[in-house]
Amino acid sequence: MQNPTPSVPTPEQIRRAPKALLHDHLDGGLRPATIVEIARATGYTALPETDPEKLGAWFREAADSGSLERYLETFAHTCAVMQTRDALVRVAAECAEDLAADGVVYAEVRYAPEQHLEGGLTLEEVVEAVNEGFRLGEQRAREAGHRIRVGALLTAMRHAARSQEIAELANRYRDSGVVGFDIAGAEAGYPPTRHLDAFDYLKRENNHFTIHAGEAFGLPSIWQALQWCGADRLGHGVRIIDDIERKGGEVSLGRLASYVRDKRVPLEMCPTSNLQTGAAESYEEHPIGLLRRLHFRVTVNTDNRLMSGTSMSREFEHLVDAFGYTLDDMQWFTVNAMKSAFIPFDERLAMINEVIKPGYAELKAEWLFTPGPGTPPVASGSARSGS
Ligand SMILES: [Zn+2]
Repeated sequence: MQNPTPSVPTPEQIRRAPKALLHDHLDGGLRPATIVEIARATGYTALPETDPEKLGAWFREAADSGSLERYLETFAHTCAVMQTRDALVRVAAECAEDLAADGVVYAEVRYAPEQHLEGGLTLEEVVEAVNEGFRLGEQRAREAGHRIRVGALLTAMRHAARSQEIAELANRYRDSGVVGFDIAGAEAGYPPTRHLDAFDYLKRENNHFTIHAGEAFGLPSIWQALQWCGADRLGHGVRIIDDIERKGGEVSLGRLASYVRDKRVPLEMCPTSNLQTGAAESYEEHPIGLLRRLHFRVTVNTDNRLMSGTSMSREFEHLVDAFGYTLDDMQWFTVNAMKSAFIPFDERLAMINEVIKPGYAELKAEWLFTPGPGTPPVASGSARSGS
């Protein structure tokens, strides 16, 4: 019996399946070996380990520790080696290559330009270096037989006071590689309404933005992000579960949860990251299971691949294990993500119809040509229709 239930994907099929990623931090996805090499070249001596393998383990452990200080320390190290033009080009190029090798066909990768100025670069030089890196990575991916398109989201830090400036920067580069804007950083004490000027500006410019909300903080954070700030998408948004009441088999949605579902507000969910920060207990108990059943506009994302030791394929593997998801479910999440992307509608549609749907159709058809010994096609066919 090679594959008695063809619609449940194997890890290898998950990797080959076309995937779309909306929530990934550039400074959270570096290759450990790259960190070591840039640190050596630029004279940065504060790394806790200089062996790439040990360093990678250190990042995951620090993120798992439950200590906010240690978690923030991980980003201090990655940002420290992203302060020169060459380093930014390299990190962005490798990001695109790594995502493409993992089967990601479309990605929006975010970073905060204001965190890369210590080496004397200007905000514009940071954006141009990262854009150059993404284009280089796309090209190298193509040469390696993969296809990926990467857009940048410019992040402003919610505790800082540069959101207007970063919003203007995002708007200036909207026709050259930057597809939107984001607010990130500690939610507690820094409500998104502190940055209303930036959001109002972007709305007047007909531009797009997402807001990290409803990760550590509950419903008020989500409500503010949507109803005061006008976010197009929610970064995480897992706490929307607090507005959904479950009694036995009955489920009832509060006003905010209803709004989020009715308006098809995209939720950028990052399961592994949520387990590390304590926003969810286990994959099985992660709200993504219920939200998917209730047909919220849920998407699957990585957040910080280095700190979480993850990839898009790993995230889907965990979800397949926890919820028995099939290739049809994977396609649903992927189409959701593509529908919610910040690139123009016709380009999103083309990605869905020309890349994503054919990719899944091909994977789903494979069982027809590789029947397991003694597995009659009829039995496989009936299992398939159960998805
Ligand atoms: Zn994030």
